[in-house]
Amino acid sequence: MDTALHTVDPELYFTDERFRSLFDVLPVAVHEIDAFGLVVRVNEAECNLLGYQADEMVGRPVWHFVAPEQQEISHRSLLRKISGKQPLVPFERQYMHRDGRMLTFQVHDAHIRNGAGIIIGIRSVLLDVTERHEYAARLAEKAEELERSNAELEQFAYVASHDLQEPLRMVASYTQLLARRYKDRLDRDAMEYIDFAVDGAKRMQQLIQDLLAFSRVGRRGRDFEPADADLALRQALTNLEVQIAERQAVITHDLLPTVVADDVQLAQVFQNLIGNGLKYCETAPRIHVGARDENSSWHFWVQDNGIGIDSQYSERVFQVFQRLHTREEYPGTGIGLAICKKVVERHGGRIWFGCNPEGGATFHFTILKQAR
Ligand code: ADP
Repeated sequence: MDTALHTVDPELYFTDERFRSLFDVLPVAVHEIDAFGLVVRVNEAECNLLGYQADEMVGRPVWHFVAPEQQEISHRSLLRKISGKQPLVPFERQYMHRDGRMLTFQVHDAHIRNGAGIIIGIRSVLLDVTERHEYAARLAEKAEELERSNAELEQFAYVASHDLQEPLRMVASYTQLLARRYKDRLDRDAMEYIDFAVDGAKRMQQLIQDLLAFSRVGRRGRDFEPADADLALRQALTNLEVQIAERQAVITHDLLPTVVADDVQLAQVFQNLIGNGLKYCETAPRIHVGARDENSSWHFWVQDNGIGIDSQYSERVFQVFQRLHTREEYPGTGIGLAICKKVVERHGGRIWFGCNPEGGATFHFTILKQAR
């Protein structure tokens, strides 16, 4: 039966006029092969894609049009499919255009059977996914590049801030020593200048420490494990004990879930947000921590009754060292929210704020349920 196929005029396979016209008009590539893998019929769309005339393809083994390194595997798997030993599932295969260009096709096969139900060939529909592949490859390359440059930047920030610490410590301690030793011999102006120098050095130390903390989020982060958000909140409140007592703040919270997270970093986010709620408030602070299940993620929020923030600063406040107030108004260096953003993004979430109608700000963040 199989051998007879070669002597049969391929036209005879077209038993149905509707099939013939569909075959010709289809904008996707379609071909048929016989039991030996020889092309029996190929439509115009496929000829155009591969740069051949139909009569140049008919009668040749179909794997001749496949990329050289995939010809062998294509040959073997076709023979297995024709013998019915391999199931027909969609797959991807690289074909080579006449001019040498590689094209990636998603191939969907179906058996061709004779009247007795015996497999006498295969009909394949080929979808050109070359562009999608190239796009995905470019995207992956860009992502890798970004990751690399991000890691380099983090490394740079870490090394720079780490190495700056030592000389700065010297500047700070020697100016302080100068002030102590020569107090009696220096006039008021000189003492004032020394104070400025010490103050500047201390501020720089604080900035460097903040930068180090920021660069540690990605470098020194722990693995994600089930973490009780309630415990993380407790840890944050313990660290803020003094400020809470001083400000006579009232802090309430919903029942908090267990999330897959780095618990130390989660506590750090709570601490920074609640710390800000305490700091940017002119009355007795009332802060509420809420949580809601949102299918693929957990949504947390920290609501305060403080001075609030204008929505025009929705991007700026999350940037490193960006502040909306002077140090005289409210102390700080502008790193807290940048750290929160980095932690949240490391957990596949996002962070934003809104203004409460009754005053104050609410900071929201999400944590993906399935860690990436
Ligand atoms: P810092 O508090 O050290 O300035 P942050 O990164 O934590 O650094 O905050 C950045 C800026 O965002 C602050 O300077 C402040 O102007 C504003 N901000 C942050 N939290 C609040 C809040 N709860 N209410 C009002 N303003 C806030």
